[in-house]
Amino acid sequence: MKKLNYYSHEKFSDRVYIFTEGYSSEFRFTLGVVVGERKVLVIDAGLGMCGGLRQYVESIAGKEKPIICCCTHGHVDHVGSAIEFDEAYLNERDFEVLPGFGLYEPTRFGDLTAFSCDSYETQWYAIEHYVQNKETKFKNIDDGDVIDLGGVQVEAIRMPGHSKGSLAYYVREEKVCFTGDAVNIQTHLKRFDNVGMREYAEIIERMIDITGEDCTIFSGHMALPQTVASARNLAAACREIADGRIEEDPPAEMIFKNQKNGGERDYRFHYHGNTCVIYNRKNISVGA
Ligand SMILES: [Zn+2]
Ligand SMILES: [Zn+2]
Repeated sequence: MKKLNYYSHEKFSDRVYIFTEGYSSEFRFTLGVVVGERKVLVIDAGLGMCGGLRQYVESIAGKEKPIICCCTHGHVDHVGSAIEFDEAYLNERDFEVLPGFGLYEPTRFGDLTAFSCDSYETQWYAIEHYVQNKETKFKNIDDGDVIDLGGVQVEAIRMPGHSKGSLAYYVREEKVCFTGDAVNIQTHLKRFDNVGMREYAEIIERMIDITGEDCTIFSGHMALPQTVASARNLAAACREIADGRIEEDPPAEMIFKNQKNGGERDYRFHYHGNTCVIYNRKNISVGA
């Protein structure tokens, strides 16, 4: 089968590039590439169903330096190609989701059906080209850890909520933060009750304390730069849900077949500005 390219990239600054991996115009994954003097860091590793992420990174960052990969969390669409790099890092609280989800082949192919909007051509392509990643070995990375790439440092910030081990990565010298699914234009926080929502608002505010107000945010499924206002909107949305102000929230659709049954009625959107939280209304007391 002829080689197809599912990757794209844009330069953010001399040392930072924004990559995308996309299987349809609807669903794309945003990856960060930070080029230091001694090492290259890839933040998140996509779904890995088309192969060739490392070669694509090398075509921009060269082949001379070691390339390490730090994943924001252990979900299937963030760890896909991590095995292609010299070292791979993930917070250990997410290790438990890897065998049955993050690195689980049936989930990867099942989710590709949704992410490719049922494209047969992409699904056939994936059968020949997907990254076999069952044996990916992750080292632990935790809140406050700093990766020195040479002339540029990247700090891990704890963001538990979307997953237990979610981290954001803040590139200090470039004032840019990669948040994965922890701060997204639509952030899935389906397990939280009112208390969890309030705590999450505090976690986001702590992140902003670390990054400062002049930081650019890139989320896991949005290739365009956002300002800290997106994170503030998310914190405000969490507080409104925590207060039980949810009576007018509409139903949130689920694109994955295995989540469609049952959950559909109870998953809801709550907006603040253009940022929204998807939550399970069964967990939230109204007017709390
Ligand atoms: Zn996720
Ligand atoms: Zn994701």
